[in-house]
Amino acid sequence: MECFKTSLCVAFSLAVSTFAGPITTVPWNGHPGAATFTFDDGLHSQTNNLTFLDNMDAKVTFFVCTGTMDFSTNSQPHLNYAKKGHEIGNHTVNHKNLTQGADLNSEIGGAATKLRSMGLEATSLATPYCAQNATVKNAINQEHFISRGCGGGGLTGWDSEPDWMQIDSHYWQASSNVASFKSSLDQAASGKWHVQLNHGVAGNWDVISTADIKTLIEYAVSKKLWVASFSTVGAYLRAHFTIDKAAATNTANGFTVKWTSPHAHMPKSVPLRVKIQGAQGKTVSQKGKEIKPNSDSTYTIEFMALELEVSGEALSSSSSKQVKSSSSSVASSSSSKLAESSSSAPSSSSMQSSSSSETNGIAPRIAFESGAVMVHCQVFDANGQLMMSKNVMAGSASEAWNNVKAGLMNGVYFMRYGKIDGRNTQIIQVRK
Ligand SMILES: [Zn+2]
Repeated sequence: MECFKTSLCVAFSLAVSTFAGPITTVPWNGHPGAATFTFDDGLHSQTNNLTFLDNMDAKVTFFVCTGTMDFSTNSQPHLNYAKKGHEIGNHTVNHKNLTQGADLNSEIGGAATKLRSMGLEATSLATPYCAQNATVKNAINQEHFISRGCGGGGLTGWDSEPDWMQIDSHYWQASSNVASFKSSLDQAASGKWHVQLNHGVAGNWDVISTADIKTLIEYAVSKKLWVASFSTVGAYLRAHFTIDKAAATNTANGFTVKWTSPHAHMPKSVPLRVKIQGAQGKTVSQKGKEIKPNSDSTYTIEFMALELEVSGEALSSSSSKQVKSSSSSVASSSSSKLAESSSSAPSSSSMQSSSSSETNGIAPRIAFESGAVMVHCQVFDANGQLMMSKNVMAGSASEAWNNVKAGLMNGVYFMRYGKIDGRNTQIIQVRK
């Protein structure tokens, strides 16, 4: 397209192409990073000593064995934590090394079935001794969408898809010290997910003191990390690789986006904080239920709804009013390119900044006083060609669009609008 010749048109092209894949997940639920604290083996030293979690905005994960250790003889203390929103994950029936001839079906599936009978749908697993190979991973994948291993620094990034059957964790041992784990949380705060593996708390083995685990969880919260369970963060991360690629299909007055779940055993609900290109001023809904934007113009959608609809043409549904004044129709030559138009045209830099502010999901805004005011509108096609220039009376962007769109062919346009004196200019994508 010849429009690529100008930077202005590049901005337009970007807007059009991202419209084809309009949803972008906000990393780590809007936090600078994430931290997950996991506790293995189903030990009562954990449930006895983690009661401080009741007063914190932090959820943890317990990987329990259904046939050995404390959980197998008395599951109630862990079930009480589950009722408060903490996660119970699968750590197999008997804690055998799965790479050494264990019956994978009964060790993995057996524990999952047992947990299910207790009302717990375990979506994650941690391998005993962090032992896994391709066969073991394949067996886990039949039952769980994510599995935790260990052995490294326990940091997972946002941008490249990890091995879901072997998410690394940072193993707390008796010789470990708080400073090095704080340092890992510092690294998480620059866009990563830190997973910490613990065993006994003030008792049992690989012991971490109650004071040390409390210090580390409080530190994670103080760093504004998203402190959530292994499956919660894992599902959010996994969902982002699906939904960010999902394409939009145009509808009569907007578009729909559909996607498929990346795994049969995702959690039943995966709330996802997203930016939606082209949703500004329109109605976003899922399964017929409207999703209101957050204060920062992101939306918290339900990934497991597997679909999203954006509809409506503009900011409000106000009916189009007749243009009251003799609107001084500034008929520009339709051949004048936006980039080339003279004094009234925006500089390409201001154009790009308007365009990027829309990309960032900031609702287009014009200082409409109460009631209708005279608004200068220019409509451009996707190639940046000026199609119409008109002054209209309008009380909202949608009303302005309603008042200028007559005579245009159906399609996607960009409307630049602002006060007659050129102030408060905004650009929005519109559709007829
Ligand atoms: Zn274990």
